[in-house]
Amino acid sequence: MSAVGVVAAAGSGSRLGADRPKALVELAGRPLVAWAVETLLAGGVDEVVVTVPAADRAAFAAALPGRVHLVEGGATRTASVRAGLAAAGPGADVVLVHDAARPLTPPDVVARVLAALAAGAPAVVPVLPVVDTTVVVDDGGLVADAVPRARLRRVQTPQGFDRAVLVAAYAGLPEGAELTDDAAVVRAAGVPVATVDGDERAAKVTVPHDLHLAGLQVAR
Ligand code: C5P
Repeated sequence: MSAVGVVAAAGSGSRLGADRPKALVELAGRPLVAWAVETLLAGGVDEVVVTVPAADRAAFAAALPGRVHLVEGGATRTASVRAGLAAAGPGADVVLVHDAARPLTPPDVVARVLAALAAGAPAVVPVLPVVDTTVVVDDGGLVADAVPRARLRRVQTPQGFDRAVLVAAYAGLPEGAELTDDAAVVRAAGVPVATVDGDERAAKVTVPHDLHLAGLQVAR
């Protein structure tokens, strides 16, 4: 089974308040995107496509191994992954879509996703339980309802797909549609999505505190 990775790295990272795209922000001296690519390769992915902001192509090329293929991303994550998938080439059996913003994802998570695909799942996501009490609030901020958390899960990346399934699901998605992850794209096409254990270390870097926490993990 051959696997291609698509790394979504074309976001601006405005919530991080950095002077460059989030994927180029450094953690222990290396850009987040370099960590993410290394995780995929270490976990068993054969080739990697990275979606980048058009204006920063040269900086990404300098930050990544030469074997990584760079493509221009889009205005939304969905558009970026669509572009990455189109550039991924028809050779791979499965596709793993990963966020550059999850630099410390252990390769074990990649291996679990690949194993589920090899066992026949058409789509698989790494998940973690929800540990906090979780509520719905009304427009005024008052608690309207508590959500039983036993069956709730937080969804991480890399998310894995049979390549043909993901290509068909994106082809059926209306142009301009914006979904927060790729499992939502295949679910919209009626594909069942399996789960494997995620990992707290695969947390997404969104705000400055997340980068601080990631720095503490690397220093250990
Ligand atoms: O903004 P957020 O952290 O949810 O983005 C998740 C991932 O999607 C990031 O790695 C980001 O670079 C990527 N992204 C993208 N193209 C966009 C927006 C986000 O590749 N237009």
